[in-house]
Amino acid sequence: MLTRRRALLADAAAAGAASTAGVLGALDGTDPVPVPAAAPAPGPPARRALRPSAYRLQPLTGYGPPRASLARTPVRREPLLSVSGRGRTMVLTFDDGPDPRYTPDILDTLAAYEVRAMFFVCGEMADDNRDLLARMADDGHVVGNHTWSHPLLTGLSRRRIRTEMERTCEVVDAAYGEPPRWFRAPYGAWNRAAFQLGAELGMEPLAWTVDTLDWTAPGTRTIVGRVEDGAAPGVVVLSHDAGGDRSQSVRALRSYLPRLLDSGYHLTVPRRQPA
Ligand SMILES: [Zn+2]
Repeated sequence: MLTRRRALLADAAAAGAASTAGVLGALDGTDPVPVPAAAPAPGPPARRALRPSAYRLQPLTGYGPPRASLARTPVRREPLLSVSGRGRTMVLTFDDGPDPRYTPDILDTLAAYEVRAMFFVCGEMADDNRDLLARMADDGHVVGNHTWSHPLLTGLSRRRIRTEMERTCEVVDAAYGEPPRWFRAPYGAWNRAAFQLGAELGMEPLAWTVDTLDWTAPGTRTIVGRVEDGAAPGVVVLSHDAGGDRSQSVRALRSYLPRLLDSGYHLTVPRRQPA
């Protein structure tokens, strides 16, 4: 099963390399230019506190990409906010899940249009819903690390931040079939330790360009409007598939996805740039 999934991932990666030419400036050899970070978004409330675990404080080399590629992950000072690609390329991202009440619907809609997206999962949600991470792998989506328990990192010790990241890397590796290559700080609240530790674990920091504020449940039509008004080449859209009632987010995707495609947008996932 895992072997098949890995094979599919490899296929998806190869296809992605062809279809996402220039995303993050990867193919023309130029570095992506990180745009200054937005003010931290409030986001949904934090969940329960981190529990003791057998995963904790593994050696950094215990998992993850080969050392050579880990060493290539730069320590940034700002998260990436958008992607640079040719044409009308956009990236859809869904945070805080997976949640069996909403994530399967989102996956069904993406599959219906053969669109790949990014899911920034929380370790404690991923641990409870490993089957959904397996499906994300099978469907060619990219899974990123959104910490274990969604804390505000700026209030945590470096050691706690490391634990939050590492435990999530491990559960993603086990359930998805490979470790995450992207990290997103809860509430968009980044600090130096998050950039440094993320890079040590081989992850690039990705924020967003357009915040749908779907977690405030503003109404399906408002969410659709925010995505369509914000649509532009290189835009990264933030939505949520967990953390509360996300039925509006589910319905909004069914509406704006076909319309973006009709408008000529290519919804894809970013590619990590080579060294
Ligand atoms: Zn979040």
